[in-house]
Amino acid sequence: MEIFFIVLSFILGCVFGSFFNVVGLRIPKEQSILTPSCCPKCQHQLKSYELIPILSFLFQFGKCRSCKTNISPLYPLIEFTTGLLFLFLYLKTGLQFELIITVTFACLLIIILVTDLSYMIIPNNILLFFLPLFLFLRMMLPIEPWYDIFLGSLVGFLMLAFLILLSKGAIGGGDMKLFAVLGILLGTKKIILTFILASLFGALIGILLIALNRLKRKEAIPFAPFIGLGAIISYFYEQELVAFYLTMMF
Ligand SMILES: [Zn+2]
Repeated sequence: MEIFFIVLSFILGCVFGSFFNVVGLRIPKEQSILTPSCCPKCQHQLKSYELIPILSFLFQFGKCRSCKTNISPLYPLIEFTTGLLFLFLYLKTGLQFELIITVTFACLLIIILVTDLSYMIIPNNILLFFLPLFLFLRMMLPIEPWYDIFLGSLVGFLMLAFLILLSKGAIGGGDMKLFAVLGILLGTKKIILTFILASLFGALIGILLIALNRLKRKEAIPFAPFIGLGAIISYFYEQELVAFYLTMMF
């Protein structure tokens, strides 16, 4: 039975990932997410068998069936990442209420991954959609103390405000609002750890890209991938990381 749920969570993740591509690519352009998908070049409307996550991309060798334009590898990449993430969430959380929280959390992270990678923005309406959801979920499954959801949100907001001042605009206001929303779900300790991890990953990749001449100094890179990774690690491994840090220090 276990293997059934493992496979199911991966497949569901891929299907959700496919939907998040649609949401993340259309919401910033104020397009409907309900109209059928078509090729951006020739407007060829996609048939149901062309919408199968990952597989249709592979079987079409990454090209539109009609006009042979290359399809962005971002589509299957997001689908695969979401599949792996849902599988990981199932294995870590199991079939209990918290799974709803972690999956909702993942939905936001993947959608903003798409918008930030594609347009370098984190849309307000996406954040405003998840804000009440996070508040509701945290009322159903509270963290201790009860006010930590508000404190976490405030601390997240202020840390990013500080980083924006330091970076002189390389970090956007969208990231700041995202941290405020994530703070509700994560609470103070985990949002601080998310901030540290995201800054660390961002700095490491930034330095690496500059060293490889793939990025100019002061050129902005999307911060959402690092925030997402930091937030997931922080959610599941905060205690282990803090304990590890303390043994290193003392
Ligand atoms: Zn086409």
